[in-house]
Amino acid sequence: MYFSKSFVPILKNNPTEAKIKSHQLMLRVGMIKQSSAGIYSWLPLGFKVMKKIEQIVREEQDRIGVQEILMPTIQSSEIWKESGRYDDYGEEMLRIKDRQNREMLYGPTNEELVTEIFRSSIKSYKSLPQLLYHIQWKFRDELRPRFGIMRCREFYMKDAYSFDLNDEEALFSYNKFFLSYLRTFKRLNLSAIPMAADTGPIGGNLSHEFIILADTGESKIYTDKRIFDVNNSSTLLDKKSLADLRQQYEKFYSVTDEKFDQNEFEKVVPEEFRVNTKGIEVGHIFYFGDKYSKPMNATVDFNGKKEFVKMGSYGIGVSRLVGAIIEAKYNDKDEIMKWPISVAPYQCAIIPMIKKNDTSNLEKSNKILEYLKSKNIDTIIDDTEENISAKIRKFNLIGVPYQLILGNKTDGDLFEFKEINGETQKLNIEEVASQILKAKSN
Ligand code: ATP
Ligand code: MG
Repeated sequence: MYFSKSFVPILKNNPTEAKIKSHQLMLRVGMIKQSSAGIYSWLPLGFKVMKKIEQIVREEQDRIGVQEILMPTIQSSEIWKESGRYDDYGEEMLRIKDRQNREMLYGPTNEELVTEIFRSSIKSYKSLPQLLYHIQWKFRDELRPRFGIMRCREFYMKDAYSFDLNDEEALFSYNKFFLSYLRTFKRLNLSAIPMAADTGPIGGNLSHEFIILADTGESKIYTDKRIFDVNNSSTLLDKKSLADLRQQYEKFYSVTDEKFDQNEFEKVVPEEFRVNTKGIEVGHIFYFGDKYSKPMNATVDFNGKKEFVKMGSYGIGVSRLVGAIIEAKYNDKDEIMKWPISVAPYQCAIIPMIKKNDTSNLEKSNKILEYLKSKNIDTIIDDTEENISAKIRKFNLIGVPYQLILGNKTDGDLFEFKEINGETQKLNIEEVASQILKAKSN
């Protein structure tokens, strides 16, 4: 890809309407464009990052055996009346009437719809567990949309749903998602901490929010520092290993403000380990038993008896993650954003000095691009006529993690190569590729 032909409308200055770093940067480098309050178009750079995040989320769902489906954005009000949420959901729900005057809505979430799909097809406990997910746009008419795509009205979410015969099996499903979330956020190079969320009035309910620490986050959190050191490299999917893994986290006090209790915090967390800070909710898993299956009559046949299935739901804010990664990775001191290589819009920028009537650097760049492409390294060539330092500033701003520079001094097979905030090295093209590939495999 040539930069001169790419649609990356970079602004000269930080937009004044944006209050937090991620919003500023995403507007500044043309990742998104606001279309109306809390509703955005995703331009190529932003869309690339979001698609890469989506793919990692997808792979980690597939890995624990969740099956991908796609439900519509527009739903009928009927099923929401069955569950009782049509009235409860209030003004956050966008309600629409079709030409037959039928009440429709733009889905804010999909428990009802997936329960309807389940109950019309699955009849026997022998088909359980059923684990289903989709990645789809949601709409919530937030009272105060803010911070760009962090709290917007239309956003992209992965939501999964589990159906099991009883509590024990349902918790097994829950724990699979717990593990899958740890893996997903690790691949995004984020340290997301599972925090106990409200258990609600009915015993047996269980919930965790996955939160990354950031001053600009909207969730207040209270936690024990030691939870950051829990070893989460387990990949075992049997019941006991999964229960042990969750237990390792639950040993430590770690809650959001709805569940916070000052006395308990002081009692169970020694002073030197107490952390009271802010974070961004990037995922939320919830076990709610028969909350929807009962009113909606979703049952399976078990030894001649009808049992209400036990359900859980599991969300990840795919579009919010784009901003959350910026909030977590932006380095205030150097004013540098370095995208994790797994989701970077481009992994490497080739920055040639272009002289009038001399195409030699551009030809070299094309050859390098072909080589890096053959190694599956996502690369862009800056073929514009700007000077080298302006080009480097531009890719520093965008946050492309690796830069290969072809200046005046380029001799033979060695190129100036650097990590965005690192020292310049002189490497040949094989060494360049192997450095990037090594970073990718970590
Ligand atoms: P919040 O507390 O931030 O309003 P929520 O608890 O209402 O979120 P869930 O219903 O748990 O959200 O949705 C799952 C995930 O979807 C959240 O963890 C979050 O990452 C994302 N999300 C929720 N609301 C928004 C929004 N308005 N804009 C962008 N992402 C959102
Ligand atoms: Mg939530």
